[in-house]
Amino acid sequence: MAGNITFTMIKPDAVKAGHIGGILAQINEAGFRIVAMKLTKLSAEKAGEFYAVHKERPFYGELVEFMSSGSIVAAVLEKDNAVEDFRTLIGATNPAEAAEGTIRAKYATSIGENAVHGSDSDENAQIEASFHFSVTEMFK
Ligand code: ATP
Ligand code: MG
Repeated sequence: MAGNITFTMIKPDAVKAGHIGGILAQINEAGFRIVAMKLTKLSAEKAGEFYAVHKERPFYGELVEFMSSGSIVAAVLEKDNAVEDFRTLIGATNPAEAAEGTIRAKYATSIGENAVHGSDSDENAQIEASFHFSVTEMFK
Protein backbone atom coordinates (compact mmCIF):
# COMPACT_ATOMS: atom_id res chain seq x y z
CA MET A 1 0.00 0.00 0.00
CA ALA A 2 2.89 2.40 0.73
CA GLY A 3 3.31 4.90 -2.05
CA ASN A 4 -0.22 4.93 -3.40
CA ILE A 5 -2.11 7.18 -1.02
CA THR A 6 -1.92 10.82 -0.06
CA PHE A 7 -3.94 13.00 2.28
CA THR A 8 -5.47 16.35 1.35
CA MET A 9 -7.53 19.11 2.88
CA ILE A 10 -9.47 21.76 0.99
CA LYS A 11 -8.69 24.68 3.30
CA PRO A 12 -11.21 27.20 4.75
CA ASP A 13 -10.46 29.90 2.14
CA ALA A 14 -11.38 27.62 -0.77
CA VAL A 15 -14.42 26.14 1.00
CA LYS A 16 -15.73 29.66 1.79
CA ALA A 17 -15.15 30.77 -1.81
CA GLY A 18 -17.23 27.86 -3.17
CA HIS A 19 -14.37 25.92 -4.78
CA ILE A 20 -15.00 22.43 -3.34
CA GLY A 21 -16.59 21.21 -6.57
CA GLY A 22 -13.95 22.70 -8.88
CA ILE A 23 -11.07 21.33 -6.83
CA LEU A 24 -12.57 17.83 -6.51
CA ALA A 25 -13.23 17.75 -10.27
CA GLN A 26 -9.58 18.63 -10.97
CA ILE A 27 -8.42 15.95 -8.51
CA ASN A 28 -10.58 13.31 -10.21
CA GLU A 29 -9.52 14.40 -13.70
CA ALA A 30 -5.89 13.98 -12.65
CA GLY A 31 -6.57 10.30 -11.93
CA PHE A 32 -6.92 10.23 -8.15
CA ARG A 33 -9.57 8.01 -6.56
CA ILE A 34 -11.23 9.26 -3.36
CA VAL A 35 -10.98 6.53 -0.71
CA ALA A 36 -12.23 8.65 2.23
CA MET A 37 -13.77 12.10 2.48
CA LYS A 38 -15.57 14.39 4.95
CA LEU A 39 -16.64 18.00 5.41
CA THR A 40 -15.51 18.92 8.91
CA LYS A 41 -14.04 21.71 11.03
CA LEU A 42 -10.78 21.66 12.97
CA SER A 43 -10.64 23.10 16.49
CA ALA A 44 -7.61 25.33 17.12
CA GLU A 45 -6.19 22.49 19.20
CA LYS A 46 -6.57 19.95 16.37
CA ALA A 47 -5.18 22.36 13.76
CA GLY A 48 -2.18 22.99 16.02
CA GLU A 49 -1.63 19.27 16.43
CA PHE A 50 -1.88 18.64 12.67
CA TYR A 51 0.72 21.32 11.86
CA ALA A 52 2.85 20.73 15.00
CA VAL A 53 5.94 20.31 12.78
CA HIS A 54 5.72 24.09 12.14
CA LYS A 55 5.41 25.05 15.84
CA GLU A 56 8.60 27.10 15.87
CA ARG A 57 7.88 28.94 12.61
CA PRO A 58 6.79 32.61 12.79
CA PHE A 59 3.57 31.88 10.89
CA TYR A 60 2.39 29.04 13.17
CA GLY A 61 -0.18 31.11 15.12
CA GLU A 62 -1.62 32.55 11.92
CA LEU A 63 -1.73 29.08 10.34
CA VAL A 64 -3.59 27.54 13.30
CA GLU A 65 -6.07 30.43 13.36
CA PHE A 66 -6.70 30.16 9.62
CA MET A 67 -7.07 26.37 9.57
CA SER A 68 -9.63 26.50 12.39
CA SER A 69 -11.53 29.49 10.92
CA GLY A 70 -14.07 27.53 8.89
CA SER A 71 -15.04 24.22 7.37
CA ILE A 72 -12.53 22.06 5.55
CA VAL A 73 -12.83 18.99 3.34
CA ALA A 74 -10.50 16.19 4.45
CA ALA A 75 -9.83 13.36 2.01
CA VAL A 76 -7.60 10.38 1.34
CA LEU A 77 -6.66 9.93 -2.32
CA GLU A 78 -5.31 6.89 -4.11
CA LYS A 79 -3.11 6.79 -7.21
CA ASP A 80 0.29 5.37 -8.15
CA ASN A 81 2.96 7.77 -6.86
CA ALA A 82 0.19 9.68 -5.04
CA VAL A 83 2.27 11.99 -2.83
CA GLU A 84 4.55 13.34 -5.54
CA ASP A 85 1.86 13.52 -8.23
CA PHE A 86 -0.50 15.37 -5.90
CA ARG A 87 2.20 17.91 -4.93
CA THR A 88 2.68 18.53 -8.65
CA LEU A 89 -1.08 18.96 -9.13
CA ILE A 90 -1.42 21.50 -6.29
CA GLY A 91 1.68 23.58 -7.14
CA ALA A 92 4.06 25.59 -4.96
CA THR A 93 3.13 26.71 -1.43
CA ASN A 94 3.16 30.34 -2.59
CA PRO A 95 0.52 30.72 -5.34
CA ALA A 96 2.65 33.43 -6.96
CA GLU A 97 5.20 30.67 -7.66
CA ALA A 98 2.72 27.90 -8.50
CA ALA A 99 2.80 26.59 -12.07
CA GLU A 100 -0.03 27.62 -14.36
CA GLY A 101 -3.10 25.39 -14.13
CA THR A 102 -2.20 23.99 -10.70
CA ILE A 103 -4.86 24.06 -7.99
CA ARG A 104 -3.02 26.72 -6.00
CA ALA A 105 -2.42 28.87 -9.08
CA LYS A 106 -6.16 28.78 -9.77
CA TYR A 107 -7.65 28.99 -6.29
CA ALA A 108 -5.12 30.18 -3.68
CA THR A 109 -4.98 33.82 -2.64
CA SER A 110 -1.74 33.97 -0.62
CA ILE A 111 1.09 31.84 0.81
CA GLY A 112 -0.94 31.45 4.02
CA GLU A 113 -4.39 30.98 2.49
CA ASN A 114 -3.40 28.55 -0.21
CA ALA A 115 -6.56 26.51 -0.88
CA VAL A 116 -5.27 22.96 -0.34
CA HIS A 117 -2.95 20.78 1.71
CA GLY A 118 -1.00 17.83 0.35
CA SER A 119 1.10 15.33 2.31
CA ASP A 120 4.87 15.65 1.80
CA SER A 121 5.88 11.98 2.25
CA ASP A 122 4.38 8.48 2.22
CA GLU A 123 4.95 8.26 5.97
CA ASN A 124 3.14 11.54 6.63
CA ALA A 125 0.30 10.54 4.28
CA GLN A 126 -0.39 7.52 6.51
CA ILE A 127 -0.12 9.58 9.71
CA GLU A 128 -2.37 12.35 8.36
CA ALA A 129 -4.98 9.93 6.98
CA SER A 130 -5.14 8.23 10.40
CA PHE A 131 -5.41 11.63 12.10
CA HIS A 132 -8.75 12.24 10.33
CA PHE A 133 -10.17 8.80 9.51
CA SER A 134 -10.60 5.44 11.18
CA VAL A 135 -9.74 2.31 9.17
CA THR A 136 -13.45 1.58 8.62
CA GLU A 137 -13.93 5.01 6.98
CA MET A 138 -11.31 4.35 4.28
CA PHE A 139 -12.62 2.39 1.31
CA LYS A 140 -9.64 0.81 -0.36
P1 ATP B 1 0.72 22.09 3.22
O1 ATP B 1 1.51 21.36 4.28
O2 ATP B 1 -0.46 22.84 3.77
O3 ATP B 1 0.38 21.19 2.07
P2 ATP B 1 3.14 23.04 2.04
O4 ATP B 1 3.67 21.68 2.32
O5 ATP B 1 3.18 23.52 0.63
O6 ATP B 1 1.66 23.20 2.56
P3 ATP B 1 4.50 23.94 4.40
O7 ATP B 1 5.88 24.47 4.38
O8 ATP B 1 4.24 22.58 4.91
O9 ATP B 1 3.92 24.11 2.91
O10 ATP B 1 3.60 24.99 5.20
C1 ATP B 1 2.34 24.61 5.73
C2 ATP B 1 1.36 25.74 5.54
O11 ATP B 1 1.75 26.84 6.35
C3 ATP B 1 1.30 26.32 4.13
O12 ATP B 1 0.50 25.60 3.25
C4 ATP B 1 0.74 27.69 4.40
O13 ATP B 1 -0.68 27.63 4.61
C5 ATP B 1 1.42 28.06 5.71
N1 ATP B 1 2.65 28.81 5.44
C6 ATP B 1 3.84 28.32 4.98
N2 ATP B 1 4.75 29.28 4.85
C7 ATP B 1 4.12 30.43 5.22
C8 ATP B 1 4.54 31.80 5.32
N3 ATP B 1 5.77 32.18 4.98
N4 ATP B 1 3.61 32.69 5.74
C9 ATP B 1 2.36 32.33 6.08
N5 ATP B 1 1.91 31.04 6.03
C10 ATP B 1 2.78 30.12 5.60
MG1 MG C 1 3.50 20.75 4.20
